[in-house]
Amino acid sequence: MFETLSDRLSGVFDKLRGRGSLSEADVSEAMREVRVALLEADVALPVAREFIGKVKERAIGQDVLRSVTPGQQVIKIVHDALVDMLGGAEADHALDLNVAPPAAILMVGLQGSGKTTSTAKIALRLQKKEKKKVLMASLDTRRPAAQEQLKVLGEQAEVKTLPIIAGQQPVDIAKRAMEAARLGGYDVVMLDTAGRLSIDEQLMAEVADVHRIANPAETLLVVDSLTGQDAVQTAEKFKARVPVSGVVMTRIDGDGRGGAALSMRAVTGAPIKLIGIGEKLDALDEFDPRRMAGRILGMGDIVSLVEKASEEVDQEKAEKMAKKLSKGQFDLDDLADQLKQMRRMGGMGAIMGMMPGMGKMKKQLDAAGGFEGKEISRQEAIISSMTKKERKNPKVLNASRKKRIAAGSGTSVQEVNRLLKAYQGMSTMMKKMGKKGGMKGLAGMMG
Ligand code: GDP
Repeated sequence: MFETLSDRLSGVFDKLRGRGSLSEADVSEAMREVRVALLEADVALPVAREFIGKVKERAIGQDVLRSVTPGQQVIKIVHDALVDMLGGAEADHALDLNVAPPAAILMVGLQGSGKTTSTAKIALRLQKKEKKKVLMASLDTRRPAAQEQLKVLGEQAEVKTLPIIAGQQPVDIAKRAMEAARLGGYDVVMLDTAGRLSIDEQLMAEVADVHRIANPAETLLVVDSLTGQDAVQTAEKFKARVPVSGVVMTRIDGDGRGGAALSMRAVTGAPIKLIGIGEKLDALDEFDPRRMAGRILGMGDIVSLVEKASEEVDQEKAEKMAKKLSKGQFDLDDLADQLKQMRRMGGMGAIMGMMPGMGKMKKQLDAAGGFEGKEISRQEAIISSMTKKERKNPKVLNASRKKRIAAGSGTSVQEVNRLLKAYQGMSTMMKKMGKKGGMKGLAGMMG
């Protein structure tokens, strides 16, 4: 998602990143380009303008830090401003169901926004991840087969749905659902209201009535992010009529521009709580402004990276490794250590894909042999067939030694060569990164 905006922004920042010093003109020029990129991504004009104003203000007031380049500093400022625009790092985007059960979740939105699908996705998530007992009910008496659709989704997700009574009106269905949930000891009741093609007075009144009856803990507005600024306007109109507590943005998976997500909070004040990232019932994510900002900036999904790595990585070991690496002392024993780590973390590809600027390097490594999946255990076997001396000093590996190692590890001389070539590539890359000062981050991720 957001590929185009990411590309544009990383183009802008590539120019800044390498510079040792930045003039005010450099920053102004970069901000002009960021502004264009935002507008092309369909971000509302006032939002883009405010964003740039904020970034400039912060950039100018900022003390120059010694340990990072001015370009990196600007990227950080832009990142933080993006996080703010998306709702803030501290904001809690979790659903708030802290009421006496059953807690009702009222789902509202235009027809075709993905409301019914999202209802089932949320129900499944609450049931599976939070072990809540969930009941779903469709109040959509307008669209033929709407109630049937929710029933079918309920069967797929193994979430209970309220039995359908033909001809019953929405408010009465809501009452029946709440009663059934109370009697049945349910924790959560999801009420899927009738969609509308556009904001329609009668249907709005109906939603308001249901809202009064159900007194929901959450009223979630579902909007289709592909509709761009229309999604934002829809949200404004709904908010004027019902107390929307959160927004679910669907089809983020297909949203190359991202403008709706970026403008939503700033324009409507309503927090995005969940995002739909596909048609399947598990294609739902909690909305995380920091992670989203990371993706949009194209500076790598650093937050996920850190989260993932911190589960695995022992800090002290990482620092030791960083020292070794920056001195260019990276031998095959270290590579074996790294391979073990990678095997646990899901392959080099997954890790490198999350790191800023690593895409190009990954291509080099792939060409040199790659470090993916089952390849890794063969590579580990090769290294463990070497003598201690060979691992410390791979230069001694002549043809006869390679032959012995291949036989010992059940591989071929070609594979041994491929591993050595990849090791050379990594070693060179690390020396380069060591010079650029990016070593600590890399080692923290790998060690
Ligand atoms: P409703 O009229 O608002 O209830 O919309 P539906 O829930 O019936 O969804 C309409 C269509 O959008 C269905 O084909 C869904 O599978 C699809 N859909 C819903 N959410 C997403 C999403 O996050 N990503 C993608 N790619 N498709 C979605």
